[in-house]
Amino acid sequence: MIVIENVYVVPVTGAEIPSGYIAIDGDRIAAVGAGPYEGEGERVDGRGRLATPGFVNTHHHLYQWASQGVTPDGTLFEWLVASYRLWGRMDAEVVHGAATAGLGWLAKSGCTTASDHHYIFPKGRGDLFDAEIQAAREVGLRFHPGRGSMDRGRSQGGLPPDEVVESMDDILSATEAAVRKYHDPSFGSMLRIAVAPCSPFSVSGQLMIESAELARSMGVRLHTHGAETLDEDEHCKEQFGMLPVQYLESLGWLGPDVWLAHCVHLTDDDIRRFAATGTGTAHCPSSNGRLGAGIARVSELMRAGAPVGLGVDGAASSEMTPLAGEIRMAMLLQRARYGPDALTARQALEMATMGGARCLGRADEIGSLEVGKLADVALWRVDGFYAAIDDPVVAFAYGQTPPLARLIVGGKTVVEDGELRTVSDQVAAEAGAVAHRRLLAN
Ligand SMILES: [Zn+2]
Repeated sequence: MIVIENVYVVPVTGAEIPSGYIAIDGDRIAAVGAGPYEGEGERVDGRGRLATPGFVNTHHHLYQWASQGVTPDGTLFEWLVASYRLWGRMDAEVVHGAATAGLGWLAKSGCTTASDHHYIFPKGRGDLFDAEIQAAREVGLRFHPGRGSMDRGRSQGGLPPDEVVESMDDILSATEAAVRKYHDPSFGSMLRIAVAPCSPFSVSGQLMIESAELARSMGVRLHTHGAETLDEDEHCKEQFGMLPVQYLESLGWLGPDVWLAHCVHLTDDDIRRFAATGTGTAHCPSSNGRLGAGIARVSELMRAGAPVGLGVDGAASSEMTPLAGEIRMAMLLQRARYGPDALTARQALEMATMGGARCLGRADEIGSLEVGKLADVALWRVDGFYAAIDDPVVAFAYGQTPPLARLIVGGKTVVEDGELRTVSDQVAAEAGAVAHRRLLAN
């Protein structure tokens, strides 16, 4: 038993406890309450600390750690076209190194559950999907990799060059094999697989339809990009005669088992359809800013009752973005668009925790500090400079993110005093740097 005491607890789903405890037994939360804890257990002093649920990252492309800084001022389509050829040269070693650094970076910003969207599989370059799963095991995060795909190259009207796409048959059989080999649906699972074709402009309609059927027949979730930029709107109108969300719905891609990245350009009707169908949104404010995509209507989605989580997106379109920092970014951008009551610090924190848990279909296991849920906890240092602010949630969200005192995933310490304790900071950083050099040299 580990007992965190004298700590400010933000359970997210219930009332905050200004001085209380969290008792952890194995991988579960055994007790949460006010005052001292009477039972036995190893004590962790929580004075000057804020306890939040571990954060859930709902969108990423971990391999992109190896290609940061490419096309620093381009639009999404310009940046993608410049990046595809580079990505077509990656191998399993690049993916393992990039994922180790990317997941370590996420852990250091309070993330306990990470999804990933890997959609490029160059032939003859090793088992890329297995490489990122091994990295997640080593770093110690709960992992939701999506077996991604692209089958619509330039000759078929798509954006990527033909060399980096796969055939539909190869994609469907590899995706089914990945789910069979890795997906663990049990309570407390450290590894769940999603089916994740890349985007309307790189995937055929037939693959979208068959991917949805495969995922639903195997009981796994569906993920893709949608409505990210106005260029995508134009592409969809030209090629399919409708806007991205209408197109996705026509292919069976709205529903309680679907979460979509970005959703920047939604119509009023799209927002109603997301709420009515329970379709989730992975909001990536830094990436949307970096690529000049726009500001997503996420406070309206939340008010309508649709699930909204936060994501850092791939490190090549939001370099070095920390997940905790996306809470502040989301809050500020919503206020810049809608006014100062658009998104409170607590609503933004909810997006990073319960919102993400809903997107990944794990609202009963993670995303809040409740008895019986998994012991995924972040402890933040709101003493020192941060003690100038009485409300520790405001201290956390309004300025630079406070230091991370401890990150616990399923009862195990992954970060302590800001440093990784599973793999070291030095090992994770070096793995990322080596992956970058290897990709450029390949
Ligand atoms: Zn993305």
